[in-house]
Amino acid sequence: MEILERPTGEAGTGKKPTVLIVGGGLAGLTAAKYLSDAGFGVTLLEKRPILGGKVSAWKDADGDWVETGLHAFFGAYEEIYTLMRELDTYKHIDWKKHELTYTLEGGERFSFQTVNLPSPLHLLPAAFKNRYFTLAERLTLVKALGPMLFGSAKYFTSQDKFSYEQWHERWGISKRMLKKMFMPMALALKFLPPDEISAKIVLDVIGIFLRQNKASRMGLLKGSPSELLTGPIADYVCQKGGTVRTEAKVKEVLLGETNPRKLAGVVLEDGELLTADNYLFALPMHNLKKLIPAELYDNEPFFAKLRNIQSVPVISVQLWLDRQVSYVNNLLFSPDGFIPVYTDMGNSNPAYSHAGKSRFHCCVAPAKDLIKKSDEEIIAVVWDNLRSVFPDGSRDAKIEKAVVVRIPWSVYNPAPGIDQFRPSQETPVKNLWLAGGYTHQKFYDSMEGAVQSGKLAARKLIQAAQVTTKL
Ligand SMILES: Cc1cc2nc3c(=O)[nH]c(=O)nc-3n(C[C@H](O)[C@H](O)[C@H](O)COP(=O)(O)OP(=O)(O)OC[C@H]3O[C@@H](n4cnc5c(N)ncnc54)[C@H](O)[C@@H]3O)c2cc1C
Repeated sequence: MEILERPTGEAGTGKKPTVLIVGGGLAGLTAAKYLSDAGFGVTLLEKRPILGGKVSAWKDADGDWVETGLHAFFGAYEEIYTLMRELDTYKHIDWKKHELTYTLEGGERFSFQTVNLPSPLHLLPAAFKNRYFTLAERLTLVKALGPMLFGSAKYFTSQDKFSYEQWHERWGISKRMLKKMFMPMALALKFLPPDEISAKIVLDVIGIFLRQNKASRMGLLKGSPSELLTGPIADYVCQKGGTVRTEAKVKEVLLGETNPRKLAGVVLEDGELLTADNYLFALPMHNLKKLIPAELYDNEPFFAKLRNIQSVPVISVQLWLDRQVSYVNNLLFSPDGFIPVYTDMGNSNPAYSHAGKSRFHCCVAPAKDLIKKSDEEIIAVVWDNLRSVFPDGSRDAKIEKAVVVRIPWSVYNPAPGIDQFRPSQETPVKNLWLAGGYTHQKFYDSMEGAVQSGKLAARKLIQAAQVTTKL
């Protein structure tokens, strides 16, 4: 971002305008970066001892990195790569072979590959070489490729009232394809099965994958997101003179002037009062709802509609094994059981190697029932699933160590009919902006969505402060 003119803060004082950002996930950190670039005095408050929110990672007592969730980068993402290039961290993404591999019970496999041809020709091998589905099954999908490929944004929006399963059935696509191909895709996308996720989000994502040659290519970081993704953003903000405070939980938001409506400050758990010219909340939905003053939540339609947005539970399980079970250096999908997407970090992340042995990182979904079970029960389910997809390699394998991370309120729930309730980054409160995966931008609740939302919120705040920048 190029700064053409520095902000002047309070008119006539020449003071830097200040902004308090609440929430140290990717959305808040992104906003902090771009607002620092624009010359704002930035203070970021994060309630936990570590930054990163849903993309956070920490070292356990053995010195092993534990991640909140397995995070894949997709070729379709845009703004996160701009940000990473600006911070020279893009080089930390390890792009994997462009292939979607499905692992099934009994050790069966099928995969979709693409070739380097203009879209949609890049999908030809996927359409014709896949022998797992019969020709009759593949032909049922061909009919639906029209709306998937050429559907307008208006058409996709009109499909938000349906679940993906309803849309799939209306187009007469094979039931086996729903179970074996689209089930893990929906669960990997937003941890929801096809009958609970909006058709719009699935169509949006498949549409991008079909239209852009490299969109479905996946990459993983070569180390932990704390060191290679979120840490460098926080360091940059501090180098620019900003302040990043962890263990700084906001417990109350104070309303100020009513005409125009403005915030007056935030109070931390220990009673400390912090004030700024501007406030930017980059919080998960359940935390935001707790902090919005009742007067706004009850009376202001912009905030009242947030009641409709819920969050999805998900679990991450990381398993260290006593031998090598998988040899695949990529993400893997599985329709059978509770691990729709997983990887053997022993092969796919050089910084996580486990002395040549397997180290699985599994996304466990749907999690609404499993999340109430004990760690031992969850680990048993995941281990059963892994043994069923690697029957030979896992025969005598033992688990050396297992870590279960529960995320009861993870991404916002894109159920049918919810898209209309996603708010913009601008709010009716004159000095308050919102960022986060749930706010309106085209990449939903993902790393890219969070970065886009943070950048959009920063841009709107900068415009409101009448700072001339190129962002
Ligand atoms: C298991 C899992 C796997 C995922 N996999 C992928 C993937 O493969 N690819 C992908 O692109 N995306 C993935 N995502 C989604 C991605 O992680 C999120 O969309 C993104 O990180 C959201 O960022 P955010 O900043 O909007 O929210 P968050 O990361 O939730 O950040 C909000 C921050 O606010 C803080 N906070 C809350 N309350 C307060 C308070 N009162 N005071 C101060 N701070 C507070 C929180 O501690 C948190 O750090 C995954 C998510 C999960 C959970």
